[in-house]
Amino acid sequence: MISELTRQKMRERMMGNKFARPASDISGKKYNRLTAIEFYKRKGKFDYWLFRCDCSNFVVYRKNNVTSTKGKTKSCGCLSRENLTLGTLSTITHGMSDTKFYYVFKTMKNRCENPKSEKYYSYGARGIKCLWNSFEEFKKDMYESYVKHLEEYGRDTSIDRVDVNGNYCKENCKWATAKEQANNKRKKHV
Ligand SMILES: [Zn+2]
Repeated sequence: MISELTRQKMRERMMGNKFARPASDISGKKYNRLTAIEFYKRKGKFDYWLFRCDCSNFVVYRKNNVTSTKGKTKSCGCLSRENLTLGTLSTITHGMSDTKFYYVFKTMKNRCENPKSEKYYSYGARGIKCLWNSFEEFKKDMYESYVKHLEEYGRDTSIDRVDVNGNYCKENCKWATAKEQANNKRKKHV
């Protein structure tokens, strides 16, 4: 039998702990093209931060790789992409698989479409669908407003539905802070 505590520790080792506190606060500091936006998670001994690149892309990196003098990470990847020819560029995928925005997309898809997801019972099982078929479609509809919301509120930007029984689609989605989401949920119970 695995105890709940052990399970929690295993989960943290795999996924990182979003509720841990950062070892030091670097928010707002700039390193080459990267500006630290918010603490993302702790995984093992390492802190991960969300950075905004000068090209307006968001990326999550291990802090030390960016801040240490030996740090080799200077951009979201656009620096090295700029050195490639246009021919090579088209073969590169969306390049956002390590961003928080992509994480939002993946987890939303998961709770609607993957019965093994922890949250499936209150989403997919209740008939709530994600009408975006691809990440590219989602990005086209939601990325601009996401960046705006993140700039205004800093951390905790997450996707919220206007009609809680409605689907995930452009017309029914907006960005909200964790606090706003909690307030909405409370209202629903009244
Ligand atoms: Zn960049």
